[in-house]
Amino acid sequence: MRRRWFSLVAAGLLVAATLLPAAPAMAAPTFKVPFPCGQSWSGQTRSDHSPAYAIDFNRTDDLGDPVVASAPGTVDRVTDLGGTSYGKYVRIDHGGGYTTYYAHLNGFNVSVGQSISYGKVIGWVGSTGGSTGPHLHYEQRLNGNDIQARFNGTLALYWGTKTYTSDNNCSSTTATGTVNTAGADLTVRSGPGTGYTAVGSVADGTTVTIYCQTSGTTVTGTYGTSSIWDRIGSGRYVSDAYVQTGYDGYIPNVPRC
Ligand SMILES: [Zn+2]
Repeated sequence: MRRRWFSLVAAGLLVAATLLPAAPAMAAPTFKVPFPCGQSWSGQTRSDHSPAYAIDFNRTDDLGDPVVASAPGTVDRVTDLGGTSYGKYVRIDHGGGYTTYYAHLNGFNVSVGQSISYGKVIGWVGSTGGSTGPHLHYEQRLNGNDIQARFNGTLALYWGTKTYTSDNNCSSTTATGTVNTAGADLTVRSGPGTGYTAVGSVADGTTVTIYCQTSGTTVTGTYGTSSIWDRIGSGRYVSDAYVQTGYDGYIPNVPRC
């Protein structure tokens, strides 16, 4: 009996030694700012916050603004704690022990078990629970423990207030335009304005990919007068007044540069 007992222990140790290395630490997800692409929000951290590494996000008139998933995952909590604590909150499980929390929401746009990706609207900014005004209380956790938040791998500001601009779900939102100058080549500039260096040209009729749009020098062209400039490559801008995009102003879902 004694001998058998030892062999069972040895067998158990062997199983443990085999299983433990089979669960390597997963890399952290690439977390994005939890707001739609292109939006800028003021994020505040403070050492007396609970939990300490949470971020409170605000911007002007933010009540009801959409809150989006900061990384792909599965919704594992959609909970209303009433007038205390988080109030209405969502938790997303990103795998590898990583979760994110979105608290004081005005309402929910997801349900438990739902698989979601970057940019999915999960709810709206509110002031539910133990909140004194509209804001998003946001947390990143590892194995249940509050961790210092990172966006695109960059540590958030601890402690203080900083503006964070979202690139959440921006990558899928390029647009296509057609250059129409009625003849001449269109000058490509290094920045969004006629004062920037000419870095090339595109022929009339060329199809261009628009990665983002921004405001610059006002230009009158084929499509009227516009201060919008389209970035069509790295350090390459053309006036939107010569580009047919299907929209008079900014193209929906294309980010601001
Ligand atoms: Zn908070």
